[in-house]
Amino acid sequence: MARIFCVANQKGGVGKTTTCVNLAAALAQAGQRTLLIDLDPQGNATMGSGVDKRAVTKSVYHVLVGLATLDEACVTSPSGGYDVLPANRDLAGAEVELVGLERRENRLRDALRASGADYDLVLIDCPPSLSMLTLNGLCAAHGVIIPMQCEYFALEGLSDLVNTIKKVHSNLNRELGITGLLRVMFDARMTLQQQVSAQLESHFGDKVFRAIVPRNVRLAEAPSHGMPGVVFDKAAKGTQAYMAFAAEMIERVRTP
Ligand code: ADP
Ligand code: MG
Repeated sequence: MARIFCVANQKGGVGKTTTCVNLAAALAQAGQRTLLIDLDPQGNATMGSGVDKRAVTKSVYHVLVGLATLDEACVTSPSGGYDVLPANRDLAGAEVELVGLERRENRLRDALRASGADYDLVLIDCPPSLSMLTLNGLCAAHGVIIPMQCEYFALEGLSDLVNTIKKVHSNLNRELGITGLLRVMFDARMTLQQQVSAQLESHFGDKVFRAIVPRNVRLAEAPSHGMPGVVFDKAAKGTQAYMAFAAEMIERVRTP
């Protein structure tokens, strides 16, 4: 059965979507059958995978409310070589609709279980909140990947997320754990970033991924070409980092 990972951090702009899209493409290049689920109404992971969110007729919204199966709504990323369960603005209303439905926090989990597709890895791009959508992601997953910038306030936000993960683990999903923390948009010239990075390592030990994603403009440019950065510029520093991260993820999936 597929190993399912949420990429979550309730802060916006910390690199969740960039991590999802590039990890999915790097995993696909390594021969892993990969599905990327876009759980953010902004649809950035969808667009960044080269799928036009405005042209999508069946999306993750339809799957969550029971109007489509996962297999019906999935499309293939033409640039990335992985499958995408797309999202667009339809999803913005789902939050309210879900409240009235049965098994409201397990809708995504149930949809994944009902799928006939045979994926090695599933990645879930969460919205920047600890909402019912994120809760659906956490209930469906085995592990959480937390991308973070090594800034002063990063650690403060982390404790809220860690507490949420603990609560979901005790009350809703015994399989859930923190897979690891990924340092992103890293600037090694900044002393503060090095200090926070060292603090993360001493506090979280081997829960901190070895791969470090540098701040790299090629990763930021790639979405406007509808391509993951790792496809857009194979030689970029950011690409190398995400390839190393994918290798680390494959290793962790093999030896949990
Ligand atoms: P989130 O999904 O957490 O909101 P994004 O992945 O959309 O965050 O990233 C926020 C912004 O930062 C985007 O404009 C993205 O292109 C840019 N970005 C993300 N990672 C990097 C990086 N390693 N180097 C440079 N820019 C990055
Ligand atoms: Mg995002």
